Amino acid sequence: MIDRRTLLTRSAALAALGLSQPLIARTSTTARAPAAGGPYDLIIVGAGTAGLPAAIFASRRGARVLLLDAAPVIGGTLHLSTGQMSAGGTRLQKSLGIVDSADAHFDDVMRISQGSANPEIVRLAVDQAAPTVDWLMDCGFRPMPGHPVMGLGHEFYSERRYYWGENGGRSILEVLTRELEAERASGRIDLVLDSPVTALLRSDAGAIEGVRATQAGSERVYRGRQVLLASGGYASNPAFWEELDGYRQHANAAYPFSRGDGLRLARSVGGYLRGRSMYLTSFGAILADESSPAALYAGFETWPDRRAPWEIYVNVRGERFVREDEPSVHQRELALLPQPEQRFWIVFDEHMLATAPPGVKNWSREDIREALATQNVFYTAPTLAALAQRAGIDAQGLEYTVRRYNEAVASGRDPWGREHLPAPIGQAPYHAIRMQGFAITSNVGIAVDARLRVIDVRGNPVPGLYAAGEALGHSQTSGKAYVGGMSVTPALSLGRLLGQTLPLDAEARA
Ligand SMILES: Cc1cc2nc3c(=O)[nH]c(=O)nc-3n(C[C@H](O)[C@H](O)[C@H](O)COP(=O)(O)OP(=O)(O)OC[C@H]3O[C@@H](n4cnc5c(N)ncnc54)[C@H](O)[C@@H]3O)c2cc1C
Repeated sequence: MIDRRTLLTRSAALAALGLSQPLIARTSTTARAPAAGGPYDLIIVGAGTAGLPAAIFASRRGARVLLLDAAPVIGGTLHLSTGQMSAGGTRLQKSLGIVDSADAHFDDVMRISQGSANPEIVRLAVDQAAPTVDWLMDCGFRPMPGHPVMGLGHEFYSERRYYWGENGGRSILEVLTRELEAERASGRIDLVLDSPVTALLRSDAGAIEGVRATQAGSERVYRGRQVLLASGGYASNPAFWEELDGYRQHANAAYPFSRGDGLRLARSVGGYLRGRSMYLTSFGAILADESSPAALYAGFETWPDRRAPWEIYVNVRGERFVREDEPSVHQRELALLPQPEQRFWIVFDEHMLATAPPGVKNWSREDIREALATQNVFYTAPTLAALAQRAGIDAQGLEYTVRRYNEAVASGRDPWGREHLPAPIGQAPYHAIRMQGFAITSNVGIAVDARLRVIDVRGNPVPGLYAAGEALGHSQTSGKAYVGGMSVTPALSLGRLLGQTLPLDAEARA
Protein backbone atom coordinates (compact mmCIF):
# COMPACT_ATOMS: atom_id res chain seq x y z
CA MET A 1 0.00 0.00 0.00
CA ILE A 2 1.43 3.38 -0.98
CA ASP A 3 0.51 6.03 1.50
CA ARG A 4 1.22 9.63 2.29
CA ARG A 5 4.33 8.67 4.28
CA THR A 6 5.88 7.15 1.12
CA LEU A 7 5.15 10.34 -0.79
CA LEU A 8 6.77 12.42 1.95
CA THR A 9 9.90 10.26 2.03
CA ARG A 10 10.30 10.35 -1.73
CA SER A 11 9.73 14.06 -1.85
CA ALA A 12 12.39 14.66 0.79
CA ALA A 13 14.93 12.61 -1.20
CA LEU A 14 14.23 14.74 -4.27
CA ALA A 15 14.61 17.89 -2.24
CA ALA A 16 18.13 16.77 -1.25
CA LEU A 17 18.99 16.78 -4.95
CA GLY A 18 17.52 20.19 -5.49
CA LEU A 19 14.82 18.61 -7.70
CA SER A 20 11.83 19.56 -5.62
CA GLN A 21 10.78 20.93 -2.26
CA PRO A 22 9.71 18.61 0.57
CA LEU A 23 6.07 17.73 0.25
CA ILE A 24 3.70 19.48 2.57
CA ALA A 25 0.66 17.28 2.33
CA ARG A 26 -1.89 20.03 2.44
CA THR A 27 -3.42 19.57 -0.96
CA SER A 28 -5.46 16.55 -0.01
CA THR A 29 -9.05 16.76 -1.13
CA THR A 30 -11.29 14.30 0.60
CA ALA A 31 -14.15 12.91 -1.37
CA ARG A 32 -16.96 10.44 -0.94
CA ALA A 33 -17.73 7.95 -3.66
CA PRO A 34 -20.96 8.90 -5.40
CA ALA A 35 -23.80 6.50 -4.77
CA ALA A 36 -24.81 6.46 -8.43
CA GLY A 37 -22.44 5.26 -11.12
CA GLY A 38 -23.26 7.75 -13.87
CA PRO A 39 -23.78 8.23 -16.67
CA TYR A 40 -21.16 10.96 -16.85
CA ASP A 41 -20.21 13.05 -19.84
CA LEU A 42 -16.58 12.42 -19.02
CA ILE A 43 -14.76 10.00 -16.76
CA ILE A 44 -11.17 11.00 -16.05
CA VAL A 45 -8.76 8.31 -14.88
CA GLY A 46 -6.21 10.22 -12.80
CA ALA A 47 -6.59 13.53 -10.90
CA GLY A 48 -3.07 14.69 -11.70
CA THR A 49 -1.32 17.18 -13.94
CA ALA A 50 -3.43 16.43 -17.03
CA GLY A 51 -6.60 15.20 -15.33
CA LEU A 52 -7.22 18.25 -13.13
CA PRO A 53 -7.36 20.88 -15.89
CA ALA A 54 -9.44 18.50 -18.03
CA ALA A 55 -11.99 18.22 -15.21
CA ILE A 56 -12.01 21.96 -14.51
CA PHE A 57 -12.56 22.98 -18.12
CA ALA A 58 -15.10 20.26 -18.95
CA SER A 59 -17.12 21.25 -15.88
CA ARG A 60 -17.00 24.89 -16.92
CA ARG A 61 -18.80 23.82 -20.12
CA GLY A 62 -21.51 22.16 -18.08
CA ALA A 63 -20.26 18.58 -18.34
CA ARG A 64 -20.90 16.02 -15.59
CA VAL A 65 -17.45 14.76 -14.73
CA LEU A 66 -16.18 11.84 -12.67
CA LEU A 67 -12.59 12.23 -11.52
CA LEU A 68 -11.12 8.99 -10.22
CA ASP A 69 -7.72 8.56 -8.63
CA ALA A 70 -5.91 5.56 -7.25
CA ALA A 71 -4.08 7.73 -4.69
CA PRO A 72 -5.39 9.15 -1.43
CA VAL A 73 -4.70 12.71 -2.66
CA ILE A 74 -5.17 14.63 -5.89
CA GLY A 75 -2.19 16.09 -7.73
CA GLY A 76 -0.24 13.10 -9.02
CA THR A 77 3.33 13.81 -10.00
CA LEU A 78 2.90 17.52 -9.21
CA HIS A 79 3.68 16.56 -5.61
CA LEU A 80 7.22 15.64 -6.66
CA SER A 81 7.79 17.43 -9.94
CA THR A 82 10.08 20.41 -10.24
CA GLY A 83 7.20 21.85 -12.23
CA GLN A 84 9.34 23.57 -14.84
CA MET A 85 7.11 24.73 -17.68
CA SER A 86 7.96 26.06 -21.12
CA ALA A 87 5.73 28.25 -23.25
CA GLY A 88 6.40 30.65 -26.11
CA GLY A 89 4.27 33.78 -26.59
CA THR A 90 2.95 34.28 -23.05
CA ARG A 91 1.66 37.58 -21.73
CA LEU A 92 4.50 37.59 -19.21
CA GLN A 93 7.07 37.39 -21.99
CA LYS A 94 5.37 40.20 -23.88
CA SER A 95 5.37 42.40 -20.78
CA LEU A 96 9.12 41.79 -20.50
CA GLY A 97 9.73 42.61 -24.16
CA ILE A 98 10.62 38.99 -25.03
CA VAL A 99 9.67 38.25 -28.62
CA ASP A 100 8.61 34.61 -28.77
CA SER A 101 5.97 32.36 -30.28
CA ALA A 102 4.64 28.83 -30.38
CA ASP A 103 6.43 28.42 -33.73
CA ALA A 104 9.80 29.34 -32.22
CA HIS A 105 9.11 26.98 -29.30
CA PHE A 106 8.26 24.20 -31.76
CA ASP A 107 11.49 24.79 -33.70
CA ASP A 108 13.54 24.66 -30.49
CA VAL A 109 11.90 21.42 -29.32
CA MET A 110 12.68 19.80 -32.66
CA ARG A 111 16.24 21.20 -32.62
CA ILE A 112 17.02 19.98 -29.10
CA SER A 113 15.39 16.59 -29.69
CA GLN A 114 17.24 16.34 -33.01
CA GLY A 115 13.93 15.76 -34.77
CA SER A 116 13.03 12.75 -32.64
CA ALA A 117 9.92 14.20 -30.92
CA ASN A 118 6.50 13.60 -32.49
CA PRO A 119 5.83 16.79 -34.49
CA GLU A 120 2.04 16.33 -34.41
CA ILE A 121 1.88 16.12 -30.62
CA VAL A 122 4.58 18.77 -30.09
CA ARG A 123 2.61 21.14 -32.33
CA LEU A 124 -0.56 20.63 -30.29
CA ALA A 125 1.33 21.05 -27.03
CA VAL A 126 3.28 24.20 -27.87
CA ASP A 127 0.22 25.85 -29.43
CA GLN A 128 -1.63 25.37 -26.12
CA ALA A 129 1.31 26.15 -23.82
CA ALA A 130 1.11 29.97 -23.72
CA PRO A 131 -2.68 30.09 -23.14
CA THR A 132 -2.19 27.53 -20.37
CA VAL A 133 0.54 29.51 -18.60
CA ASP A 134 -1.52 32.71 -19.04
CA TRP A 135 -4.50 30.94 -17.48
CA LEU A 136 -2.42 29.68 -14.53
CA MET A 137 -1.17 33.21 -13.95
CA ASP A 138 -4.72 34.57 -14.11
CA CYS A 139 -5.53 32.06 -11.37
CA GLY A 140 -2.67 33.25 -9.15
CA PHE A 141 0.36 31.22 -10.25
CA ARG A 142 3.55 33.23 -9.81
CA PRO A 143 6.83 32.19 -11.45
CA MET A 144 10.10 32.70 -9.60
CA PRO A 145 11.64 36.18 -9.77
CA GLY A 146 13.67 36.64 -12.95
CA HIS A 147 11.63 34.12 -14.93
CA PRO A 148 11.28 33.11 -17.65
CA VAL A 149 14.82 31.83 -18.13
CA MET A 150 16.47 29.93 -20.98
CA GLY A 151 17.30 26.76 -19.10
CA LEU A 152 18.64 25.04 -16.01
CA GLY A 153 19.11 21.26 -15.91
CA HIS A 154 18.57 20.49 -19.59
CA GLU A 155 19.81 21.82 -22.93
CA PHE A 156 19.04 25.54 -23.07
CA TYR A 157 16.30 27.08 -25.20
CA SER A 158 17.25 29.84 -27.61
CA GLU A 159 14.79 32.19 -25.91
CA ARG A 160 13.61 32.91 -22.34
CA ARG A 161 10.51 30.68 -22.17
CA TYR A 162 11.10 28.47 -19.11
CA TYR A 163 9.17 29.15 -15.86
CA TRP A 164 8.51 27.53 -12.51
CA GLY A 165 7.12 28.49 -9.14
CA GLU A 166 8.81 28.71 -5.78
CA ASN A 167 7.42 25.34 -4.67
CA GLY A 168 7.98 23.52 -7.95
CA GLY A 169 5.06 21.35 -9.05
CA ARG A 170 3.17 22.19 -5.87
CA SER A 171 2.97 25.83 -6.94
CA ILE A 172 0.93 24.61 -9.91
CA LEU A 173 -1.06 22.18 -7.79
CA GLU A 174 -2.13 24.92 -5.38
CA VAL A 175 -3.72 26.79 -8.29
CA LEU A 176 -5.36 23.69 -9.75
CA THR A 177 -6.72 22.68 -6.34
CA ARG A 178 -8.40 26.07 -5.89
CA GLU A 179 -9.89 25.96 -9.36
CA LEU A 180 -11.11 22.40 -8.88
CA GLU A 181 -12.77 23.26 -5.59
CA ALA A 182 -14.55 26.18 -7.24
CA GLU A 183 -15.89 23.86 -9.96
CA ARG A 184 -16.82 21.16 -7.51
CA ALA A 185 -19.06 23.66 -5.77
CA SER A 186 -21.20 23.52 -8.92
CA GLY A 187 -21.94 19.87 -8.16
CA ARG A 188 -20.84 18.80 -11.64
CA ILE A 189 -17.61 17.04 -10.59
CA ASP A 190 -17.59 13.88 -8.51
CA LEU A 191 -14.16 13.13 -7.09
CA VAL A 192 -13.34 9.63 -5.91
CA LEU A 193 -9.94 8.94 -4.34
CA ASP A 194 -8.26 5.67 -3.31
CA SER A 195 -9.97 4.09 -6.25
CA PRO A 196 -7.83 2.58 -9.01
CA VAL A 197 -9.52 2.00 -12.34
CA THR A 198 -8.98 -1.62 -13.31
CA ALA A 199 -10.89 -2.03 -16.57
CA LEU A 200 -12.63 -0.18 -19.39
CA LEU A 201 -16.21 -1.09 -20.32
CA ARG A 202 -17.17 -1.38 -23.95
CA SER A 203 -20.43 -1.68 -25.83
CA ASP A 204 -20.94 -4.51 -28.30
CA ALA A 205 -20.07 -2.02 -31.03
CA GLY A 206 -16.70 -1.39 -29.37
CA ALA A 207 -17.39 2.10 -27.96
CA ILE A 208 -16.10 2.92 -24.49
CA GLU A 209 -18.99 3.32 -22.10
CA GLY A 210 -17.44 3.40 -18.65
CA VAL A 211 -14.88 2.03 -16.25
CA ARG A 212 -14.56 -0.50 -13.50
CA ALA A 213 -12.75 0.63 -10.35
CA THR A 214 -12.06 -0.78 -6.92
CA GLN A 215 -12.62 0.99 -3.64
CA ALA A 216 -11.94 -0.45 -0.21
CA GLY A 217 -11.83 -3.92 -1.70
CA SER A 218 -15.15 -3.73 -3.53
CA GLU A 219 -15.75 -3.18 -7.19
CA ARG A 220 -17.72 -0.30 -8.69
CA VAL A 221 -18.91 0.35 -12.19
CA TYR A 222 -19.18 3.89 -13.50
CA ARG A 223 -20.90 4.65 -16.79
CA GLY A 224 -19.67 7.50 -18.95
CA ARG A 225 -19.86 8.62 -22.56
CA GLN A 226 -16.15 9.31 -22.78
CA VAL A 227 -13.09 8.28 -20.83
CA LEU A 228 -9.82 10.19 -20.60
CA LEU A 229 -6.74 8.21 -19.58
CA ALA A 230 -4.71 10.73 -17.56
CA SER A 231 -3.10 8.18 -15.28
CA GLY A 232 0.54 9.15 -15.85
CA GLY A 233 3.49 6.97 -16.80
CA TYR A 234 5.05 3.78 -15.46
CA ALA A 235 8.25 5.04 -13.79
CA SER A 236 7.27 3.42 -10.49
CA ASN A 237 6.81 0.01 -12.09
CA PRO A 238 10.34 -1.38 -12.61
CA ALA A 239 9.20 -4.59 -14.32
CA PHE A 240 7.05 -2.73 -16.86
CA TRP A 241 9.89 -0.19 -17.31
CA GLU A 242 12.35 -2.91 -18.21
CA GLU A 243 9.83 -4.61 -20.49
CA LEU A 244 9.04 -1.43 -22.43
CA ASP A 245 12.39 0.33 -22.42
CA GLY A 246 14.87 -2.51 -22.20
CA TYR A 247 16.76 -0.81 -19.35
CA ARG A 248 16.60 -1.27 -15.62
CA GLN A 249 14.80 1.35 -13.55
CA HIS A 250 17.63 2.54 -11.31
CA ALA A 251 15.99 5.34 -9.35
CA ASN A 252 13.07 5.17 -7.04
CA ALA A 253 11.99 8.75 -7.56
CA ALA A 254 8.72 8.88 -9.46
CA TYR A 255 5.18 9.21 -8.14
CA PRO A 256 4.35 5.83 -6.57
CA PHE A 257 1.09 5.53 -8.53
CA SER A 258 2.87 5.89 -11.89
CA ARG A 259 2.48 2.20 -12.59
CA GLY A 260 1.44 2.20 -16.22
CA ASP A 261 -2.22 1.36 -15.58
CA GLY A 262 -3.40 3.65 -18.40
CA LEU A 263 -1.12 1.94 -20.91
CA ARG A 264 -2.52 -1.44 -19.97
CA LEU A 265 -6.10 -0.15 -20.11
CA ALA A 266 -5.54 1.28 -23.60
CA ARG A 267 -4.02 -1.96 -24.82
CA SER A 268 -6.93 -3.96 -23.42
CA VAL A 269 -9.29 -2.25 -25.89
CA GLY A 270 -7.10 -2.30 -28.99
CA GLY A 271 -4.82 0.68 -28.38
CA TYR A 272 -1.10 0.30 -28.94
CA LEU A 273 2.08 1.76 -27.47
CA ARG A 274 4.81 3.76 -29.18
CA GLY A 275 8.12 5.32 -28.19
CA ARG A 276 10.20 2.18 -27.66
CA SER A 277 13.92 2.71 -28.28
CA MET A 278 13.55 6.37 -27.23
CA TYR A 279 15.03 5.80 -23.77
CA LEU A 280 17.59 8.31 -22.60
CA THR A 281 19.31 8.48 -19.25
CA SER A 282 20.01 11.63 -17.28
CA PHE A 283 23.68 12.24 -16.51
CA GLY A 284 23.17 10.65 -13.15
CA ALA A 285 23.02 11.16 -9.43
CA ILE A 286 24.37 9.53 -6.29
CA LEU A 287 21.91 6.91 -5.08
CA ALA A 288 21.37 5.87 -1.48
CA ASP A 289 22.81 2.40 -2.03
CA GLU A 290 23.80 -0.11 -4.69
CA SER A 291 20.34 -1.63 -5.19
CA SER A 292 18.08 -0.94 -8.17
CA PRO A 293 15.86 0.93 -7.94
CA ALA A 294 17.31 2.95 -5.06
CA ALA A 295 16.40 6.31 -3.60
CA LEU A 296 18.15 9.44 -4.81
CA TYR A 297 20.68 10.54 -2.24
CA ALA A 298 22.73 13.47 -3.53
CA GLY A 299 23.76 15.22 -6.72
CA PHE A 300 27.21 15.93 -8.16
CA GLU A 301 27.75 19.14 -10.11
CA THR A 302 28.65 17.92 -13.59
CA TRP A 303 27.84 21.14 -15.46
CA PRO A 304 31.31 22.46 -16.39
CA ASP A 305 30.20 26.08 -16.51
CA ARG A 306 29.01 25.84 -12.91
CA ARG A 307 32.00 23.89 -11.60
CA ALA A 308 34.91 23.01 -13.88
CA PRO A 309 35.70 19.30 -13.32
CA TRP A 310 38.90 18.29 -11.53
CA GLU A 311 38.01 14.60 -11.49
CA ILE A 312 37.76 12.00 -14.24
CA TYR A 313 34.66 9.93 -15.04
CA VAL A 314 35.16 6.22 -15.73
CA ASN A 315 32.87 3.29 -16.52
CA VAL A 316 33.04 -0.17 -14.94
CA ARG A 317 35.98 -1.04 -17.21
CA GLY A 318 37.89 1.92 -15.83
CA GLU A 319 37.62 3.78 -19.16
CA ARG A 320 36.74 7.40 -19.70
CA PHE A 321 33.78 7.78 -22.05
CA VAL A 322 33.23 11.53 -22.45
CA ARG A 323 35.26 14.68 -22.01
CA GLU A 324 34.36 15.68 -18.47
CA ASP A 325 33.98 19.33 -19.44
CA GLU A 326 31.67 18.59 -22.40
CA PRO A 327 29.42 21.66 -22.33
CA SER A 328 26.30 19.99 -23.78
CA VAL A 329 24.34 18.02 -21.20
CA HIS A 330 22.57 16.26 -24.07
CA GLN A 331 25.92 15.01 -25.41
CA ARG A 332 26.95 13.86 -21.91
CA GLU A 333 23.68 11.95 -21.56
CA LEU A 334 24.08 10.33 -24.98
CA ALA A 335 27.63 9.30 -24.04
CA LEU A 336 26.44 7.69 -20.81
CA LEU A 337 23.60 5.71 -22.41
CA PRO A 338 25.76 2.90 -23.93
CA GLN A 339 27.89 2.51 -20.77
CA PRO A 340 27.16 -0.67 -18.79
CA GLU A 341 24.12 -0.03 -16.55
CA GLN A 342 24.46 3.72 -17.33
CA ARG A 343 26.84 3.88 -14.39
CA PHE A 344 30.10 5.72 -13.85
CA TRP A 345 32.51 6.58 -11.09
CA ILE A 346 33.93 10.00 -10.36
CA VAL A 347 37.58 9.39 -9.52
CA PHE A 348 39.82 11.87 -7.71
CA ASP A 349 42.75 11.98 -5.32
CA GLU A 350 43.48 13.52 -1.94
CA HIS A 351 44.97 16.67 -3.47
CA MET A 352 41.71 17.29 -5.34
CA LEU A 353 39.59 16.61 -2.29
CA ALA A 354 41.62 19.13 -0.31
CA THR A 355 41.88 21.77 -3.06
CA ALA A 356 39.01 21.66 -5.55
CA PRO A 357 35.62 23.25 -4.87
CA PRO A 358 33.41 20.49 -3.35
CA GLY A 359 31.58 18.71 -6.17
CA VAL A 360 28.66 17.18 -4.28
CA LYS A 361 25.83 19.71 -4.51
CA ASN A 362 25.16 21.59 -1.29
CA TRP A 363 27.81 19.61 0.58
CA SER A 364 30.97 20.87 2.27
CA ARG A 365 34.36 19.17 1.94
CA GLU A 366 33.83 17.72 5.41
CA ASP A 367 30.46 16.26 4.35
CA ILE A 368 32.25 14.50 1.49
CA ARG A 369 34.96 13.16 3.82
CA GLU A 370 32.29 11.87 6.16
CA ALA A 371 30.48 10.11 3.30
CA LEU A 372 33.75 8.61 2.03
CA ALA A 373 34.19 7.08 5.46
CA THR A 374 30.66 5.84 5.91
CA GLN A 375 28.54 5.58 2.74
CA ASN A 376 28.58 2.53 0.52
CA VAL A 377 28.63 4.36 -2.82
CA PHE A 378 31.62 6.47 -1.72
CA TYR A 379 35.00 4.72 -1.77
CA THR A 380 38.51 5.48 -0.45
CA ALA A 381 41.70 3.38 -0.73
CA PRO A 382 45.47 3.81 -0.44
CA THR A 383 46.10 2.75 -4.07
CA LEU A 384 44.22 2.99 -7.35
CA ALA A 385 44.08 -0.82 -7.58
CA ALA A 386 42.54 -1.11 -4.13
CA LEU A 387 40.10 1.70 -4.94
CA ALA A 388 39.03 -0.09 -8.10
CA GLN A 389 38.49 -3.31 -6.20
CA ARG A 390 36.35 -1.61 -3.55
CA ALA A 391 34.29 0.30 -6.08
CA GLY A 392 33.82 -2.64 -8.46
CA ILE A 393 35.83 -1.12 -11.33
CA ASP A 394 38.40 -2.99 -13.42
CA ALA A 395 41.74 -2.25 -11.68
CA GLN A 396 44.03 -2.47 -14.70
CA GLY A 397 41.67 -0.36 -16.71
CA LEU A 398 41.59 2.34 -14.06
CA GLU A 399 45.38 2.38 -13.59
CA TYR A 400 45.89 2.66 -17.34
CA THR A 401 43.30 5.44 -17.67
CA VAL A 402 44.79 7.47 -14.82
CA ARG A 403 48.30 7.11 -16.36
CA ARG A 404 47.02 8.38 -19.70
CA TYR A 405 45.08 11.18 -18.03
CA ASN A 406 48.14 12.31 -16.10
CA GLU A 407 50.12 12.40 -19.37
CA ALA A 408 47.37 14.58 -20.84
CA VAL A 409 47.61 16.94 -17.87
CA ALA A 410 51.40 17.13 -18.31
CA SER A 411 51.19 17.79 -22.05
CA GLY A 412 48.05 19.94 -21.93
CA ARG A 413 46.52 17.79 -24.69
CA ASP A 414 43.71 15.42 -23.76
CA PRO A 415 42.69 12.69 -26.24
CA TRP A 416 39.01 13.33 -25.34
CA GLY A 417 39.42 17.06 -25.96
CA ARG A 418 39.02 18.10 -22.35
CA GLU A 419 40.23 21.63 -21.77
CA HIS A 420 40.18 21.92 -17.98
CA LEU A 421 43.20 19.92 -16.81
CA PRO A 422 44.01 21.41 -13.39
CA ALA A 423 46.03 18.59 -11.75
CA PRO A 424 47.12 14.97 -12.18
CA ILE A 425 45.61 12.18 -10.08
CA GLY A 426 48.53 11.02 -7.99
CA GLN A 427 48.23 11.77 -4.31
CA ALA A 428 46.95 8.96 -2.06
CA PRO A 429 44.47 8.18 -0.71
CA TYR A 430 42.35 7.86 -3.84
CA HIS A 431 38.60 8.39 -3.88
CA ALA A 432 35.60 7.49 -6.02
CA ILE A 433 31.88 8.25 -5.98
CA ARG A 434 29.48 6.01 -7.85
CA MET A 435 27.10 7.88 -10.16
CA GLN A 436 24.00 6.30 -11.62
CA GLY A 437 22.24 7.44 -14.76
CA PHE A 438 18.49 7.24 -14.36
CA ALA A 439 15.21 8.52 -15.77
CA ILE A 440 12.02 9.52 -13.98
CA THR A 441 9.71 10.01 -16.93
CA SER A 442 8.33 7.18 -19.04
CA ASN A 443 9.17 7.24 -22.72
CA VAL A 444 6.72 4.74 -24.10
CA GLY A 445 3.06 5.71 -24.22
CA ILE A 446 -0.38 5.31 -25.71
CA ALA A 447 -0.68 6.09 -29.42
CA VAL A 448 -3.21 8.84 -30.14
CA ASP A 449 -4.22 10.88 -33.17
CA ALA A 450 -4.13 14.66 -33.52
CA ARG A 451 -7.37 14.89 -31.50
CA LEU A 452 -5.80 12.82 -28.69
CA ARG A 453 -8.12 9.90 -29.45
CA VAL A 454 -6.60 6.54 -28.60
CA ILE A 455 -5.97 4.70 -31.87
CA ASP A 456 -5.36 1.13 -32.90
CA VAL A 457 -2.46 0.03 -35.09
CA ARG A 458 -4.42 0.87 -38.24
CA GLY A 459 -4.95 4.42 -36.98
CA ASN A 460 -8.65 3.95 -36.19
CA PRO A 461 -9.82 5.65 -32.99
CA VAL A 462 -11.25 3.58 -30.16
CA PRO A 463 -14.61 5.40 -29.86
CA GLY A 464 -14.91 7.44 -26.68
CA LEU A 465 -11.34 6.95 -25.44
CA TYR A 466 -8.74 9.74 -25.09
CA ALA A 467 -5.34 10.04 -23.47
CA ALA A 468 -3.13 12.90 -22.28
CA GLY A 469 -0.09 13.53 -20.09
CA GLU A 470 2.79 11.16 -19.51
CA ALA A 471 0.50 8.29 -20.52
CA LEU A 472 1.32 9.41 -24.08
CA GLY A 473 5.04 8.85 -23.41
CA HIS A 474 7.58 11.54 -22.63
CA SER A 475 9.30 10.77 -25.93
CA GLN A 476 6.33 12.13 -27.89
CA THR A 477 6.86 15.69 -26.66
CA SER A 478 10.58 15.57 -25.88
CA GLY A 479 11.99 12.94 -28.21
CA LYS A 480 15.15 11.08 -27.28
CA ALA A 481 16.25 14.10 -25.28
CA TYR A 482 15.25 16.13 -22.27
CA VAL A 483 13.57 19.28 -23.51
CA GLY A 484 12.82 21.67 -20.64
CA GLY A 485 9.23 21.70 -19.44
CA MET A 486 8.04 19.35 -22.17
CA SER A 487 6.30 16.95 -19.79
CA VAL A 488 4.50 19.15 -17.28
CA THR A 489 3.40 21.77 -19.81
CA PRO A 490 2.02 19.30 -22.38
CA ALA A 491 0.20 17.41 -19.60
CA LEU A 492 -1.45 20.61 -18.34
CA SER A 493 -2.08 22.01 -21.82
CA LEU A 494 -3.48 18.89 -23.45
CA GLY A 495 -5.64 18.09 -20.41
CA ARG A 496 -6.99 21.64 -20.57
CA LEU A 497 -7.52 21.38 -24.32
CA LEU A 498 -9.55 18.19 -23.96
CA GLY A 499 -11.66 19.78 -21.23
CA GLN A 500 -12.35 22.66 -23.59
CA THR A 501 -13.04 20.67 -26.72
CA LEU A 502 -14.28 17.14 -26.00
CA PRO A 503 -17.70 16.64 -27.53
CA LEU A 504 -20.15 16.57 -24.67
CA ASP A 505 -23.28 15.03 -26.19
CA ALA A 506 -24.32 12.65 -28.95
CA GLU A 507 -21.54 13.88 -31.20
CA ALA A 508 -19.20 11.99 -28.85
CA ARG A 509 -20.13 8.88 -30.76
CA ALA A 510 -19.45 10.41 -34.17
C1 LIG B 1 10.90 14.39 -9.65
C2 LIG B 1 10.28 14.79 -10.92
C3 LIG B 1 10.57 16.03 -11.46
C4 LIG B 1 9.99 16.41 -12.66
N1 LIG B 1 10.23 17.67 -13.12
C5 LIG B 1 9.66 18.05 -14.29
C6 LIG B 1 9.83 19.38 -14.76
O1 LIG B 1 10.42 20.22 -14.10
N2 LIG B 1 9.28 19.71 -15.96
C7 LIG B 1 8.58 18.80 -16.72
O2 LIG B 1 8.12 19.16 -17.80
N3 LIG B 1 8.37 17.55 -16.26
C8 LIG B 1 8.87 17.17 -15.07
N4 LIG B 1 8.61 15.92 -14.58
C9 LIG B 1 7.64 15.07 -15.30
C10 LIG B 1 6.21 15.61 -15.11
O3 LIG B 1 6.04 16.11 -13.81
C11 LIG B 1 5.20 14.50 -15.39
O4 LIG B 1 5.44 13.95 -16.67
C12 LIG B 1 3.77 15.02 -15.36
O5 LIG B 1 3.52 15.72 -14.15
C13 LIG B 1 2.82 13.84 -15.49
O6 LIG B 1 1.51 14.31 -15.51
P1 LIG B 1 0.31 13.26 -15.72
O7 LIG B 1 -0.94 14.00 -15.56
O8 LIG B 1 0.52 12.48 -16.94
O9 LIG B 1 0.51 12.23 -14.50
P2 LIG B 1 0.33 12.50 -12.96
O10 LIG B 1 0.44 13.94 -12.62
O11 LIG B 1 1.23 11.56 -12.25
O12 LIG B 1 -1.17 12.09 -12.70
C14 LIG B 1 -1.59 10.76 -12.88
C15 LIG B 1 -2.64 10.44 -11.82
O13 LIG B 1 -3.25 9.19 -12.16
C16 LIG B 1 -3.42 8.44 -10.98
N5 LIG B 1 -3.56 7.03 -11.35
C17 LIG B 1 -2.60 6.17 -11.76
N6 LIG B 1 -3.15 4.97 -12.04
C18 LIG B 1 -4.48 5.09 -11.82
C19 LIG B 1 -5.59 4.20 -11.92
N7 LIG B 1 -5.47 2.91 -12.32
N8 LIG B 1 -6.82 4.65 -11.59
C20 LIG B 1 -7.01 5.94 -11.18
N9 LIG B 1 -5.99 6.81 -11.06
C21 LIG B 1 -4.74 6.40 -11.39
C22 LIG B 1 -2.21 8.78 -10.13
O14 LIG B 1 -2.43 8.52 -8.77
C23 LIG B 1 -2.02 10.26 -10.44
O15 LIG B 1 -2.71 11.08 -9.51
C24 LIG B 1 9.15 15.51 -13.37
C25 LIG B 1 8.88 14.26 -12.85
C26 LIG B 1 9.41 13.90 -11.62
C27 LIG B 1 9.08 12.56 -11.04
